[in-house]
Amino acid sequence: MSLYKTLDISVLEELTAIVGDEYILVGADIAEEYTRDAWVPPGLPRYPEAVVFPVNAQEVAAIVRLANRRLFPVIPRGGGTGLSGGTVPVYGGVIIDLLRMNQIIKIDPNARYIITEPAVLTIDIQQEAAKYGLLYAGDPSSDDCFIGGNVATNAGGNRAVKYGVTAEQIYELEIVTPQGGIVNLGGRLKKNSTGYGLVKLIIGSEGTLGIVTRITLKLHRLPPIFTTSLAAFANFSDAAAAVSVILEDPLLDPISLEIIDQKTVAALARYCEDWRFSEQGGDTLIIQLEANQDAEQAEKQNKLAAIIRKAGGIHLLPDSEKVWQARREFGKAIQAESAVLGIEDVVVPVDELAGFSSQLFEIARAGGLEVRIAGHAGDGNVHIQILPGDTPEAEWESRFHNFTQQLHADVYSRGGRISGEHGIGVKRKQYFLERVDPVELELMKSVKKSFDPRGILNPGKIFDVV
Ligand SMILES: Cc1cc2nc3c(=O)[nH]c(=O)nc-3n(C[C@H](O)[C@H](O)[C@H](O)COP(=O)(O)OP(=O)(O)OC[C@H]3O[C@@H](n4cnc5c(N)ncnc54)[C@H](O)[C@@H]3O)c2cc1C
Repeated sequence: MSLYKTLDISVLEELTAIVGDEYILVGADIAEEYTRDAWVPPGLPRYPEAVVFPVNAQEVAAIVRLANRRLFPVIPRGGGTGLSGGTVPVYGGVIIDLLRMNQIIKIDPNARYIITEPAVLTIDIQQEAAKYGLLYAGDPSSDDCFIGGNVATNAGGNRAVKYGVTAEQIYELEIVTPQGGIVNLGGRLKKNSTGYGLVKLIIGSEGTLGIVTRITLKLHRLPPIFTTSLAAFANFSDAAAAVSVILEDPLLDPISLEIIDQKTVAALARYCEDWRFSEQGGDTLIIQLEANQDAEQAEKQNKLAAIIRKAGGIHLLPDSEKVWQARREFGKAIQAESAVLGIEDVVVPVDELAGFSSQLFEIARAGGLEVRIAGHAGDGNVHIQILPGDTPEAEWESRFHNFTQQLHADVYSRGGRISGEHGIGVKRKQYFLERVDPVELELMKSVKKSFDPRGILNPGKIFDVV
C-alpha cells in the first residue's frame, strides 16, 4: 500500500492558490512527456496527478510544505533530457516543472562568476559567458538540458577531462529543502572548512535531497584558440591505449578526449548527411586542445600528431564544428540503426580503459549482442548502446540482463561504477542495489531520512527508503 495520499480537490485548490490558475495542469491536459525523461520506462506510462509551474523559490517552498502536510510526492523537472528516469512520477503526485525559473540573474566578468535560475539552458550560459570572453566549462552533449538538471545529476560532458564535472563549476546553491525551507549552501570562496560540505551532497542527488532554485557558477577565461583533431585507429584497444599517453603528456592538457568505435563512426557517417565523420573510418579519438597563441597551438598539434603516429593511428584535422555536431548525434544515429537498444554509462579508472574495452566487446560477442560506443574516454566514462543484432525477440531481455550483469561485474573488478554521469534514477536502481556496499547504502538512507523524513521528494529514485 502506498504511503502517499491521492490529490483531492482541496489539495488542487491549494496548489492553484500558490501558482495561479494558468500554471497548473491536471488530467488530460498533462502531456505524455511528463511520464518520462529521455529514457522511456518499460510498461504502461505513469502520469503525475498534477504538473505545476512555480516562478520562484518561495512558490516552490510553499508547494513542498503542502506536500509534507498532505503527503504527496513532488518531483522536480528540468529539461527532461535525463537518461535514467529521474523525473518519472513513480508514485504519482506533483511534477514541479521549473520552466518559468529561467533567468540569468547576474554575470560578473571581473570576478568571473554567473548567477542563474535552474531552468536556464546550459548552452545559453555558455553563450552568455562567451560574450565576455569567458568560458562556462560544463558541456553535456544534450542541447536541451538545464543547469539545474546538470547540478542534480552532476553532469559531466565533453570538457570534464580538463575542467571537471558540474560539481567543480559550482560556488553556491540556493535550495528548497524537502521540508520546505530555503537555504544557501556553499559560497563564492576558494576554500571553506566551515562545517559539513552540504553543497556537494546536493550535487548529484537527483532531486531527492533538495530542489535547486539558484546557482552561482565559476567562469574561466576563454582561451582564444581551440582546435579539434581526430585520431583514427585500426582497432578500439589501440585507440583506448592512446588515451593515457595523450593525458600523461605535460604539454597537451586536452579539454576533450572522446572515443567512438568504428561501427558508430560508420553509423554517424550514414546519419550526418553532409559529412563523413572520418574518411579513413576506424576506431576514433576526438581530441580538443586549447592555446593562447598560434605558436603554442602549432607546438601542441605537432606533439599530438607524433603521439598518435607512434600509437599506430592516423592524425586528421577536420572541421571542428561538424565533428562536435556529429558527436552530439551519437544516440540518434544508433537509434536509426536499431529501434531496440539498451544504454549504459559505466565509468572505470582511465588506466583501465583499454583492458575494460577488450573485455566489453568479448562479453557482448559471447552474449550474442552488439555494442556501439561513444565515450568521454579522458574520464574513463563510456556510453554503451547495446543492440540485439540477430537475437530473437523473446531472448532480448534475458540476454541484455546477463550482459549488463557481466559488464557491471567487470567494471567493479576494476574499481569502476555503474554510472559516470547519467545517474541511477529508476532505471539503474536494481543494478545499483546489487553492487552498492550495504554500509554505504545505509548511510545514504540515513541522509535521505534526515533531510526528508516524510519521503516526499522524488521518491523511488536511486533507492527505496522503506
Ligand atoms: C542526447 C543526450 C546527450 C547527453 N549527454 C550528456 C553528457 O554528455 N553528459 C551528461 O552528464 N549527461 C548527458 N545527458 C543526460 C542529461 O542531459 C543530463 O543528465 C542533464 O544533466 C539532465 O538535465 P535536465 O535539465 O534535462 O534534467 P531532467 O532530466 O529534467 O532531470 C534530471 C534529474 O534531475 C532532477 N532535477 C532537475 N532539475 C532539478 C532542480 N532544479 N533541482 C533538483 N533536482 C532537479 C530531476 O528530478 C531528475 O532526477 C545526455 C542526454 C541526452 C538526451
